[in-house]
Amino acid sequence: MVDLRATQAHLVQVTMNIPDASAGTEIQIPTWNCLYQIRDFVKNVQDMKDDCDGQPAELNREDLNTWRGPNRSCSDLAFHYSVYAAADGPFDSMLDGHHSFLNLAMILFYLPRERNRPVYVKFHVPAGWKLASCLEGEGDEFQAANYDALVDSPVEAGHFEDFAYTQGFIPTGASAADIKRATIRLIIDADRADYSPGRILSSIQKITTEETTLMQDLPFHRYTFVLHFPRDGGSTGGMEHRDGAAIAIPASALHDNEGYLESIVAHEFFHAWNVKRIRPQSLEPVDYINGNDTRDLWLCEGVTNAYAQLVLLRADLLDRNTFYARVAGAMEILQSRNGRRFQSAETSGREAWLEKYSDYNRSQRSISYYNKGELLGYLLDLGVRHASQNLAGLDDVMRRLNQDFARRGRFYTFADFRSIITQLAPTFDTNRFFEDYVQGTRELDYLTYLGYAGLLLATHVAELPLPGFSATRNSVGLLQVDSVDDGSAAQRAGLEPGDVLISADGDPLPAGPNPTLPSWRPTQTVELRIVREGKTHVLRFRIGVNRQISFQIEEDPQARPEQLRVREGWLKGATNSSSGNR
Ligand SMILES: [Zn+2]
Ligand SMILES: [Zn+2]
Repeated sequence: MVDLRATQAHLVQVTMNIPDASAGTEIQIPTWNCLYQIRDFVKNVQDMKDDCDGQPAELNREDLNTWRGPNRSCSDLAFHYSVYAAADGPFDSMLDGHHSFLNLAMILFYLPRERNRPVYVKFHVPAGWKLASCLEGEGDEFQAANYDALVDSPVEAGHFEDFAYTQGFIPTGASAADIKRATIRLIIDADRADYSPGRILSSIQKITTEETTLMQDLPFHRYTFVLHFPRDGGSTGGMEHRDGAAIAIPASALHDNEGYLESIVAHEFFHAWNVKRIRPQSLEPVDYINGNDTRDLWLCEGVTNAYAQLVLLRADLLDRNTFYARVAGAMEILQSRNGRRFQSAETSGREAWLEKYSDYNRSQRSISYYNKGELLGYLLDLGVRHASQNLAGLDDVMRRLNQDFARRGRFYTFADFRSIITQLAPTFDTNRFFEDYVQGTRELDYLTYLGYAGLLLATHVAELPLPGFSATRNSVGLLQVDSVDDGSAAQRAGLEPGDVLISADGDPLPAGPNPTLPSWRPTQTVELRIVREGKTHVLRFRIGVNRQISFQIEEDPQARPEQLRVREGWLKGATNSSSGNR
């Protein structure tokens, strides 16, 4: 029983009943879920008590995350506790006077020895609130096959708006009589002035139709998008679940960043297959305490990124030039990160657990498996299409993974994935691709792979000034140094945070009403006069160089027919094999 009525205190009050509990029954709460980050959910659990058949009972804390009931069996063992829920966003839990969004792994315990037992949960909500979840159930009561399924469904309660449409799907080559149907629900909790349901429904419907057709599958009866468009506060992003997704983007981004919501929707919905059903063995069984050691996140997340963009293009929500610009943008991100020289795509995913530390995210330390994985998705697709003369592409690989593993309830290994590629494109050098690009850190050969599709790559290097420090206007209107880059010439010359700038090369600073640093040229020497603790100092150093690479992808007007086949196949999701093999 989950009681959401203590909204002012942000306390979710829980009673966990265990029928026919054996002596010494233990309950445990995960340290993580949703994000690949150990977040110690126990930190929000308070006031734990238990009773056995209605009588207060002995309670032992076994370790940080585990409690143990009495040393006798109970026909009804009940644990009572509260969870402080005051963090908004798709990965967290919140209860306040406006709404509640729950990541149930933060709220509910499991039985470590019986995690596969069917579970049932009943909610009590404040008067007038509605309740929505991806779980099967009626009213305020839901059931799940086991704890894993239970916590793979977010819960939203409050005054949201509810929209739905029917997604139909006829397998290629089948007749209209074979149509399958599912309900797609949109639960929208946002200010009605900030969004247009018509626009959102129309673009989401294009995406779900395109992805269902791509995967040749409609693997659920109902799928639920929980959407928040906050005006301020809370974390934003998207979180996939087996039969739904929770998405939060700032209301301002809905207006200013057209296509942003669609990109997230296309990504999360593709996860209904890739990662939720097409699932690597390395993520199973879920280790809720220590996390799972997985090297497959470049494929789970990065390739999902690639599909999000391809699907938007194929669904006419994106034009070709914007698609090319986004691919080039992803290339620019990878090439700007020095961490790519020693961190492979595989290792990046394995080290996802470190992303909660801000210094891990420095470009000198790490790359993103979302980013490099997206590029690997494009390259792999182009490589397979080139090697097979566009008889097969990555779409076929994903469909095979779905048929051979997801639909048979099996998890795949990396070896399975490679073997499917080899079967579909025997002349593609799968080993080399994975050794160089997935497990290794060889620079991606964009020219060759884009060339397979008759695409040209223009590279432009801009040399921008890198002063090696930053300064902002202080309370008396002077420019004051707020940070100095490690290893910069400014640092070697002795510049320190807190120094107040007086002049540069003899010209007084700040100049003008809106003080900013002068626009220096790369490598020029500057002489700064500064004041520190009442004393004037003169520092002389060279402005550094920030080499920014930008890429532009263009269609080669002289592309040969075999290149055009690969290009059209890639962009449209088609192959040259017999129709019906889609
Ligand atoms: Zn809400
Ligand atoms: Zn994702």
